[in-house]
Amino acid sequence: MKSYRKELYFQIKSRREFVNITSDVEICLRESGIKEGLCLVNAMHITASVFINDNESGLHQDFENWLEKLAPEKPYSQYHHNGAEDNGDAHLKRTIMGREVVVAITAGRLDFGPWEQIFYGEFDGKRKKRVLVKIIGE
Ligand code: ZN
Repeated sequence: MKSYRKELYFQIKSRREFVNITSDVEICLRESGIKEGLCLVNAMHITASVFINDNESGLHQDFENWLEKLAPEKPYSQYHHNGAEDNGDAHLKRTIMGREVVVAITAGRLDFGPWEQIFYGEFDGKRKKRVLVKIIGE
């Protein structure tokens, strides 16, 4: 069995953003040389997500609006977590949107369903953060 590991770095300029990282993961898959196996992609921070959904800007705005209703950023004082930090909302948003995805690799390609794309979801940006890509197979 072959094994491949790489960290992707992101420095998002705003507090929240969704970034399509599908092509970055496809580059990892090519580098790995693995044709049949599994690809794990996970955020290495507890205020960021990796998830799969449609690459459609209206949907991304809907995610933003929905998450702000569930866990509004402000007022910061509404969260017990805040005080030394102001990112209580970001921890909650990350939990809803998920930590990781696993994608099957078939014939050297990410074996997606229709319209599936991989996204990095940043909820407490303006600093350097990492995503782990781990691919196993043969
Ligand atoms: Zn925190």
